[in-house]
Amino acid sequence: MTDKETNGQEVTAKSNFIHQQIEKDLSEGKNDGRVHTRFPPEPNGYLHIGHAKSICLNFGAALKYGGMTNLRFDDTNPEKEEDEYVRSIMEDVRWLGFDWGDRLFYASDYFDRLYAFALKLIREGKAYVDDQDAETISNQKGSPTRPGTESPYRNRSVEENLRLFEAMKNGDFEEGACVLRAKIDMTSPNMHMRDPILYRIMKTPHHRTGDKWVIYPMYDFAHGQCDYWEGITHSICTLEFEVHRPLYDWFIDQLKEGDYRPRQIEFARLNLTYTVMSKRKLLELVKERYVSGWDDPRMPTISGLRRRGYTPASIRNFAERVGVTKVEGISDVTLLEHSVREDLNKTAPRVMGVLDPLKVIITNYQAGEAEMVEAVNNPEDPEAGTRLVPFSGELYIEREDFMENPPAKFFRLAPGREVRLRYAYFITCQEVVRDEKGEVTALLCTYDPETRGGNAPDGRKVKATIHWVSAAHAVEAEVRLYDRLFMVEDLSEEKERDFKEFLNPGSLVIKQGCRVEPSLVQAVPFSHFQFERIGYFNVDPDSTPGKPVFNRTVALKDAWTKEKGK
Ligand code: ATP
Ligand code: MG
Repeated sequence: MTDKETNGQEVTAKSNFIHQQIEKDLSEGKNDGRVHTRFPPEPNGYLHIGHAKSICLNFGAALKYGGMTNLRFDDTNPEKEEDEYVRSIMEDVRWLGFDWGDRLFYASDYFDRLYAFALKLIREGKAYVDDQDAETISNQKGSPTRPGTESPYRNRSVEENLRLFEAMKNGDFEEGACVLRAKIDMTSPNMHMRDPILYRIMKTPHHRTGDKWVIYPMYDFAHGQCDYWEGITHSICTLEFEVHRPLYDWFIDQLKEGDYRPRQIEFARLNLTYTVMSKRKLLELVKERYVSGWDDPRMPTISGLRRRGYTPASIRNFAERVGVTKVEGISDVTLLEHSVREDLNKTAPRVMGVLDPLKVIITNYQAGEAEMVEAVNNPEDPEAGTRLVPFSGELYIEREDFMENPPAKFFRLAPGREVRLRYAYFITCQEVVRDEKGEVTALLCTYDPETRGGNAPDGRKVKATIHWVSAAHAVEAEVRLYDRLFMVEDLSEEKERDFKEFLNPGSLVIKQGCRVEPSLVQAVPFSHFQFERIGYFNVDPDSTPGKPVFNRTVALKDAWTKEKGK
């Protein structure tokens, strides 16, 4: 295991088969000892947790071997790409703690070079303009067991191809009228080698090149060459590109001078239970308003996880834990939840908040009086110190911490029973107040002034400790509770039906009228807290002055009450 410092953050990179390959190349003296990776997103959506894994792998490997990582936008399809996505991707990569320095690139930076390379292929008789439509071309592809059929335009002369390709570039043809194809082998057992399309006509302005181009290179024609021109040593990508590799190699064979070529290494993409990872599906959820946006805290996007309260370290640790394999699988979302719990346990200040308030009136406390009690900010972090929390004769406790007729294992408040109020006093429930419908509206309790700080001088014990806030001092808050976005664990097994049929109708519960301790009135958006006994929460940017909004990141696993199962 190796540790390296980056941006003041620790990246721990366990060894994996990608590292082993890199080490082998280094030991053989390849690439003059350079390690250069890249993260190549297409700016057609926001990044998700699967991309986070790829980011951690690419940047992580370069950090481990003292190399560099480029950020390169694969912007070859102007119909789907937007600047908003470019901005969000940069924000998310930085937020995860990685830095591409001055190495920000776009596939569109290479449009001129790709065009020149296409001309070279035509001149060498290795590419031709095909006037057939997409459907015909696709029908002629054959199948893995049946060879393809050669296009009638395959043997056009170099001069004719040069003239037609230039006319394509000049906008003389309509979209779909023709394409440029590589002339490789229509009988190859690898379908990708059967004269793949290199360029198509698209009369859509591009987010960076405007209307300079009306022909655009296919992803397959751009990707490997961009890696080559950037001097990438290790092109880490997901498994589906394994079968494209011979084609990428063919392109580089036509291009390369000398020995250098990027080494492509494939790994299995990350899938996660109870969610979807395809950008097309995520976009559908956003466009059709099943969620509030790309950063909806239920989304598996990095911006959604951030808004939900996930930390960069928790995501990096998760990416490390799931490991790198060559076998498709699905990771359990509870592992992601475990990672954030583990991180926030160390860092999140503890506070008290009541989600479902029930009034408690302390009948023997001087009306109108209040005092401050001292509360520990983080028992996991001695440096976090303490704070003062107001206590008074009117409090709120959690409604579920009281039961009028408690079953055997319920140790919290009940008529006649004494419990501890965290950091304050022991109280005993004397009487239950109801409204005309019989609903409990308040509890009349007494407190024992001798138990200040939460311990009785006579050594008597209570079986439960509950949280509370002072009614007059508490701040009203909105709390958003999240559950899984989908109801089934593995959506890939539900191909017959529309994935949206499996959306969980209970994935968001909004609670109004919650009460939190006054220290939270100024809480800054995106700051993290542990609401004692309830879970980890973070402040949503929808908060307004005096009215904080909290997202529940994840529930607490271990509560500190003595009760079992609570
Ligand atoms: P689509 O959802 O449209 O297939 P994509 O997932 O391929 O898009 P890109 O923007 O092309 O999205 O991905 C950028 C990089 O992230 C690629 O190198 C890709 O291999 C990697 N990547 C994408 N999804 C995952 C995933 N689920 N797990 C790991 N890596 C991923
Ligand atoms: Mg892709």
